[in-house]
Parts: sequence; C-alpha cells; structure tokens
Amino acid sequence: MIEVHDLTIRYDDKAVFRAESALFEEGKISAVIGRNGSGKSTLLKALSGQKMYSGSVKIDGKECAELRPMERARKVAYLPQILKSANMDVRTLAEHGRYPYHGSFRRPTEEDRACVEKALMITGMKALEEKNLGQLSGGERQRAYLALVIAQNSSMILLDEPTSFLDHMYREDFFAILQELKKAGKGIVMVCHDLEQSFAYSDRIFLMEDGVLHSGMTAAGLSGEEDLLRRNFGVVLKPSEDSGSLYPFVMKR
Ligand code: ADP
Repeated sequence: MIEVHDLTIRYDDKAVFRAESALFEEGKISAVIGRNGSGKSTLLKALSGQKMYSGSVKIDGKECAELRPMERARKVAYLPQILKSANMDVRTLAEHGRYPYHGSFRRPTEEDRACVEKALMITGMKALEEKNLGQLSGGERQRAYLALVIAQNSSMILLDEPTSFLDHMYREDFFAILQELKKAGKGIVMVCHDLEQSFAYSDRIFLMEDGVLHSGMTAAGLSGEEDLLRRNFGVVLKPSEDSGSLYPFVMKR
C-alpha cells in the first residue's frame, strides 16, 4: 500500500506538483490520467523513490525516501516510460527482477528461478526468452520489461504508459495480465493516456490537473464530473448504451 500526504515535488524550484492525499491499494488497479506535462510521470517517480519530494509517501507504513533501495524494490516495482534496449536476452532481463532478493553475489535460488519462469509465462515471453532485446518489436520489449517487474514480485507495481507501443489486440492482452496480477493481490498504479481503457480497467482513477492530483474516483464517479473532464480532455465519458461497445464508458463530445 502506498499512502501519500501533503506531497510536493519540484524540478529546479520551478515545476511543482502537489498531492494532498492519495491511497494506492493492493488488489486494486489505479490509473493516473491527465494531459501531457501535467506531472503524471513525476508522481510515479516520487512514489517509487526515483525523485525527491517533501511531505510523505509511505510504503507499507514506512517513508519511501528512508527505505534502502533493495528493500524498496521488494515492495515497489517501477516500469518507466522509456525502455532502454539493453544488450541482453529476455530471460536475463527478467532475472534482473530478482536482484533485490540476492544482490550481485548470491546465486539464484529455486524461488528466484520459479518467479522468472512464471513472469515469462504470464507475459507470453517464454517463446522469446533467448532473443536479444534489440531484436524485439517495441511491443515485445514492453512485455519483456513487464516480465522483469513481475519477476520482482513486489506488492505494488507502478507502470508508466505501459501500453504505448502495443497494438490494440496486445493492449487487451496486457490489461488481462494486469487483471490477473490484481487477482493475485498486487496493487497496480498505471499512467494511462487511453481514457476509455482507464475507465474500463481501473478501480480508482486519479486525475492530475496542472500539477495537482485530484482524489481518486471510480469510473462512474468521474463520469459524472463533466466539467472536470471537459476542462482536461475536451471530451466527457458516458456509460455506453451500445451492447456491442468494447468499453463500458465511451468518449462523447
Ligand atoms: P506527464 O507525465 O504528465 O506528461 P511529466 O511528469 O513527465 O508529465 O512532466 C511534467 C512537467 O515537469 C514537464 O512538462 C516539465 O515541465 C517538468 N519536468 C519533467 N521532467 C523534468 C526534468 N527532468 N527537469 C525539469 N523539469 C522537468
């Protein structure tokens, strides 16, 4: 669980981002939405200990900034938006997810191997495990990195626009994987630029508006906030009346 109170994040004393309070729970999918540049990535960086902040970000009751990196990585996995094409194969990348448990020196245990195997299976990357990351498509690389964070087996998983390189069919598969992780008790926090998908798959939606994080809302609750939606996205989302519609809430003018 990640609890945020009176959070302020700064870049060079200029761009400032604030969140009064927010709760990101295990067993739930939380989406962070907002216009480009509103501060979504910055928030995720602070929640995962990649960015300094003032105020409080508590991970399982302990202040994020005070946790040692390996301890923090056992609780929170973070997948940034820009994924490097490191010179290694998919299995080796997934094995990096076990680093917080054994560091550089200890040999991988049976549990480490089982976690990596499971992560490769869940993400559908088992068949590509020997491929170098440089040989993969953008979408495959995104799934390879998802295998890394799943292998990490932390209770919270933070994903920054995880589906940006995926074509539509794989996006649905990707969200199915997230639903499975949620069922297994993981807490997912994802920055997602697709509004209909955010509304369809999230238990809570947090809207970042010009650097200020609104309280988490359900899809139905946020659907009722027409002014807020129009101001931020130029559209509203309404329950779909079409039984053939892919998503329960659809964009309307
Ligand atoms: P979003 O994820 O919502 O698109 P970001 O969190 O990436 O927004 O960035 C929000 C704003 O913060 C940017 O428009 C920029 O002004 C500022 N910013 C982001 N990264 C940096 C940085 N490394 N140094 C200075 N300012 C930054």
